[in-house]
Amino acid sequence: VIIGAGYIGLEMADALTTRGIEVTLVSRTPTVLPSVDPEFGATVAEELRQHGVAVHTSTSVHAISQGNESLRVSGDNGFVQDCDLVLLAVGVDPNTHLGRDAGLKVGARGAFVTNRQMETEAPAVYVAGDCAETWHRLLQRYAYLPLGTTSHKQGRVAGENALGRHCEFQGSLGTQAVKIFQLVIARTGLRQDEAEREGFDAYTRETVTNDHKGYYPGATPLKVRVTGDRRTGRLLGAQLLGAWRAEVSKRVDVFATALFNGMSVAQISDIDLSYAPPLSSPWDPVQIAAQSWSMSRATT
Ligand SMILES: Cc1cc2nc3c(=O)[nH]c(=O)nc-3n(C[C@H](O)[C@H](O)[C@H](O)COP(=O)(O)OP(=O)(O)OC[C@H]3O[C@@H](n4cnc5c(N)ncnc54)[C@H](O)[C@@H]3O)c2cc1C
Repeated sequence: VIIGAGYIGLEMADALTTRGIEVTLVSRTPTVLPSVDPEFGATVAEELRQHGVAVHTSTSVHAISQGNESLRVSGDNGFVQDCDLVLLAVGVDPNTHLGRDAGLKVGARGAFVTNRQMETEAPAVYVAGDCAETWHRLLQRYAYLPLGTTSHKQGRVAGENALGRHCEFQGSLGTQAVKIFQLVIARTGLRQDEAEREGFDAYTRETVTNDHKGYYPGATPLKVRVTGDRRTGRLLGAQLLGAWRAEVSKRVDVFATALFNGMSVAQISDIDLSYAPPLSSPWDPVQIAAQSWSMSRATT
């Protein structure tokens, strides 16, 4: 039984199933992969079921008890499952006891407060990675986004500064991608609900196109959800879902690069992206999604 349907729980469901182990996934969230829109979560849940994973959403686990020969996991709605192994993948909390005992301040989600040089208020003490707050480039404030990509960049900044150079962490956009069986799901920036909460006049448009030219064998549908500010046209975020070989992660990276540079949705159409029929179209799916956003924004 895997408790938690975030990306780590889902990757483990894939890995254990591939090893021939029967998996039951249980999550208190209404869909799996709650970091993306529920429509994408539903597609991922279907992918899990098709590969034999039993998926239980909207189910909080209350107890794990030791039976004679197995563990028993029980929760909401009469959920009871006996199993040999329980894996908890229920989120990340920074472990900051050591630093707090030494007087370091903590902020968002209990992570260490830092400046963009990754310095703390204590002289010559730097923080980086999962224990530290993250400068959010789009929101222009600190957040908590524990990711390997962020940790590496922060670690380099801390190291450079510790050696007497001056550099600043340029900020995270929460860009991430995950492969679950034959699907890849990726996101960067803000979703509709997150953008609204931050006060943007957010508008999201989903476009479905082939990942490459239909006449070249093996084309698969790629879903792209673009979120932008209706008033200014600024790109705010993107979510993608497609087949494993559909270059989903590199396509989300195009959006991440555009976000990093504060581009508008419309400007994405002007980027000189590569094209060959087995790989893309003269307008890449990223650009078709951006154009679709711009055209539909005008009519909403
Ligand atoms: C299963 C899994 C999959 C992931 N997949 C991805 C992914 O695909 N993409 C992505 O971007 N991120 C991913 N992450 C997140 C990524 O691994 C973390 O964000 C990243 O490792 C954090 O780096 P870090 O150096 O801050 O911490 P860690 O990598 O956790 O390193 C901390 C180190 O400090 C040591 N340590 C702790 N306390 C002490 C102490 N008191 N004394 C001495 N040593 C100590 C630990 O032993 C450890 O070696 C994944 C995480 C998990 C758990």
